[in-house]
Amino acid sequence: MLARLAKLAARGLVIALAAGVPLVLCVLLTRYEAVRIGRSEAALASNFVVNQVMAIVEQARDAARSVAPHAGAPCETLSRELSLAAATQPYVRTLNILDSDHVACSSATGNQSIAVETFLNGNVRTPRGDWLMIVPGTPLVANRPALLVAVRAIGGRNVVAAVDSQYLLDLLHAAAPHNEFRQATLRVGTGPALHEIPAGGDPARDEAGGDSPMESAPLLADVRRTMDGSVIELRLQGLPERLNATWRVLLFRYLPWTALLAALLVWLVYRVQQSRRSRREQLLRAIRAGEFHVEYQPLFGVASGRCEGAEALLRWVRPGIGTVRPDEFIQAAEEEHVIVPLTQHLLTLIAQDVMKWATLPGFHLGINFAPEHLSSEALLPDVRNFTRSIGGRGIEVVLEITERSLVRNTDVAQRNLVALRRDGVRVAIDDFGTGFCSLSYLEKFPFDILKIDRGFVLTIDAQERSAVVLDSIIGLAHSLDAKLVAEGVASQAQFDYLCARGTNWIQGFFYAKPMPADDFGRWYRGPGMAPFPAPVVAAEREAT
Ligand code: C2E
Ligand code: CA
Ligand code: CA
Repeated sequence: MLARLAKLAARGLVIALAAGVPLVLCVLLTRYEAVRIGRSEAALASNFVVNQVMAIVEQARDAARSVAPHAGAPCETLSRELSLAAATQPYVRTLNILDSDHVACSSATGNQSIAVETFLNGNVRTPRGDWLMIVPGTPLVANRPALLVAVRAIGGRNVVAAVDSQYLLDLLHAAAPHNEFRQATLRVGTGPALHEIPAGGDPARDEAGGDSPMESAPLLADVRRTMDGSVIELRLQGLPERLNATWRVLLFRYLPWTALLAALLVWLVYRVQQSRRSRREQLLRAIRAGEFHVEYQPLFGVASGRCEGAEALLRWVRPGIGTVRPDEFIQAAEEEHVIVPLTQHLLTLIAQDVMKWATLPGFHLGINFAPEHLSSEALLPDVRNFTRSIGGRGIEVVLEITERSLVRNTDVAQRNLVALRRDGVRVAIDDFGTGFCSLSYLEKFPFDILKIDRGFVLTIDAQERSAVVLDSIIGLAHSLDAKLVAEGVASQAQFDYLCARGTNWIQGFFYAKPMPADDFGRWYRGPGMAPFPAPVVAAEREAT
C-alpha cells in the first residue's frame, strides 16, 4: 500500500515537473530577457550621453585654449577677448583666468578678484594642468551647476571655461527619459555628480551634491571614459515599473506557447509512464480496475442436437487503447507470473455470470487453466471455492489444460487433478496434438476429454477426403475412452465430418461465436435450445 502510494506520488511529481518546469523557465527567462533589454537600452543611452559630454568638453577646451596664449596679460586687455570667445563658442557660459588663489579675470565680470575657493564653491582644485570639475553654481549664477573645463595656461595660470549644466541635463533627459529610467547620474572629473531625476524629483535643479535618495534603484549601466586623466562617468538606474512592463509584454507573448508546450509535455510523460509501467503492474491494475470480462463460446452437443455447454474465454478491453488479444495477455500473464491471480479473478467473474443463466443440469463449463496454476497449491482451494459458489446448479466444471508453458511440478499437478476429479471436476486436454500439447500429457495427467485443435479441423475439406491425423486422434480418444470436443469448427463440411465420426461436442464459429454473459444467457434459452443445424440448413443439405 505504502509502496503504491510512493509510486503514485513519484509519478505525480514527474507530471508536475513536466508541467511546472517549462512554466517556471518561461517566467525566469522572460524576466532575464526583460532585464537584458533594459540593460542594453541603458548601455546605448549611456554611451551616447558620454560621447556627447566628451564632445562638449572638447568644444569648451577649444574655447579655453584659444585664449590660453594670452592668459598672462592684464585683465583690462584680456577681458574683451574673453567675452568674445565666450560669446562665440558653443556651450560656454563664461571664460575665466584662474591665478594661484583668485580669479584674475572673467568674461562676465572682468576683474573682481574672487577667491578661487569661492569660484570653485569650496571644492579643491586638482593639481595644475588640465582638469574637469562640476560645481553647484558659479559666482554669476549661484544656484545653477556648471561644468568647469580647465586648460593650463602660461604663468601657472588656468583658463577655465564654465559650461552651463543645462546642456548636460537636457542631454541626459533626451537620452535617458524619465519614463524609462529612474535616475541618471553624471560625474565629470572631480566635484559632485549631476543627477537627472524623473517625476517626484526636480530634475534639472537637483543640485549637484551628495547621494541621491534613489541610490537603491537597480543599476542598469555604468559607462566610464577617461579624458586626459579625468573620468567621465554615467550611471543609469532602472525603473522597476518599466522592467515589469517589459516583463509583462514578454510573458503575454510567450506564456500561451509555453502552456501549450507544458500540456504537450505532460501528455508525453503520461504516455511514457503508461507504456513503461511493467506488464505485471498493468495486468494487476487492470484486474483492480475491472477491465476484464468473460465471453462464452457455446458447445454443441452432438447427441442432443443443442447447446450443452460453453467455454469461458477471458477478454481485456483497455480504456483508451482497445481490446487486447487473449493469447497476447495470457502469455504475458504467464511470463509475469500473474496468471494465478488472473485466473482467480476469472473464476470470480464466471461465478457472477453463471448466476444470470438458467442452464440445464450437466451444463459443461470449460475453463482454461495455465500450467503454473495446475502445479500450485492454490489450485484446489480456488477450484473448490468456485464449485461451491456455483453449487446446486448442476454445472459440470471442465478444467482445460494446455502446455503453453512447462508444468514445473508434475507431481503436484497430478495430485491436484486426481483430487479434483474425485470432486467431480472434469479435465480436458486442450489444443491436443499441437506443439502446446503432445502425447506426453496423456501419460502424465488423468483426463476425461480431448479437445482437438482447430489446426486438424482445418484439414477437413469440402470433398470430405479423409483427414488422416484427425482420424487417428479421434481413434485414439475412443480407444482411451475419452470424450471429444472439436474446436474451431467453421464450416458445414467440418461439422458434418466430425458429427459422423463420433465427436461429442462441436465448438466453433459455425455453431456460435463467443458472446458476453448476458447475450449468452439469452442465446442459450433461444437458439441454444433449438435443434441445430436449423431446419432450413438441414433441408438445404438434404437437397445437395
Ligand atoms: P483456446 O483455449 O484454444 O480457445 C479457443 C480459441 O479459439 C478462442 O480464441 C476462440 O475464440 C477461438 N475460436 C473458437 N471457434 C473458432 C473458429 O471457428 N474459428 C476461429 N478462427 N477461432 C475460433 P480466443 O478467445 O482468442 O482465445 C485464444 C486463446 O487464449 C485460448 O485458446 C486460450 O488458450 C487462451 N485463453 C482465452 N481465455 C483464457 C482464459 O480465461 N484463461 C487462460 N488460461 N487462457 C485463455
Ligand atoms: Ca481452451
Ligand atoms: Ca484450444
